[in-house]
Amino acid sequence: LLRWLCWPLVACAVPAQVGLVALAVIEYIRLDWLGSVPIDLLFVTVVAASGAAGLVAADLVLLRVLRGGRALRRVRRRCRQGLPPPVHTAATLLGIGGRVDLVAAGEAFALTHGLLRPRILLSTGLIRALNPAELTAVLVHERDHMHHRDPLRLLAVRLLAAYACYLPVAGWLAERFALRRELAADRAATAHCGGAVLAAALLKVAEVPASSAAVPVNPHGRLEARISQLEGGRPTGGPRLAPARVLATLGNGALLLIAAACCLSLAAALPGGVA
Ligand SMILES: [Zn+2]
Repeated sequence: LLRWLCWPLVACAVPAQVGLVALAVIEYIRLDWLGSVPIDLLFVTVVAASGAAGLVAADLVLLRVLRGGRALRRVRRRCRQGLPPPVHTAATLLGIGGRVDLVAAGEAFALTHGLLRPRILLSTGLIRALNPAELTAVLVHERDHMHHRDPLRLLAVRLLAAYACYLPVAGWLAERFALRRELAADRAATAHCGGAVLAAALLKVAEVPASSAAVPVNPHGRLEARISQLEGGRPTGGPRLAPARVLATLGNGALLLIAAACCLSLAAALPGGVA
């Protein structure tokens, strides 16, 4: 139920929060600083600061994505190679013939990148390290990311989590979403090639630093959960929700709600309203 409620909640909460921040900024300008009650000023400041913190954090995520995208384009331009015929055939059989690129790199990696028309990027190191069955498993895994437009979805989730950075549970939810997509892509690959083949491939693939514009096949810190799923058990080792994070979220959320209520009542009390 929470999963279905999550997106409508976010869709209401973000515009409501943006509206409140705009209101707080107008009140900030219109408040008589010397004549105001200090607690009113404090609450208006809290609401405005939450918006400012969210915007800065979301901008930092965007900046990292733009940098990652530029680096990826540079690598593709400088190191691009033609697909060897067996890899081209495997990709064509999976229905992704025109959407797989290869770059010369010693490290074994595979990733899905691109927000609107995602593509798969493989390294020559990967092709050297994997046998044909393992390579197919990796391609099926990346195809699942591509079909679900995971680079775009992950970016949206990370931006939302950054905007809500003062509610630390949002970061945990974003990590959980990313892991869930990894596990789903693994299930697609397992259904196609079997778990043993995928597990063998995973252990050979380098851990590629996660850029927000790309979904690497083996993102940092998720190997334990993925291998435990392949072994037939419940995924273990996923992101932990520390009690301190929950407490901070509840505390900050409550403070923000009180501050928001104060902002709204202040808007009605200001002479001539806030328009
Ligand atoms: Zn993946």
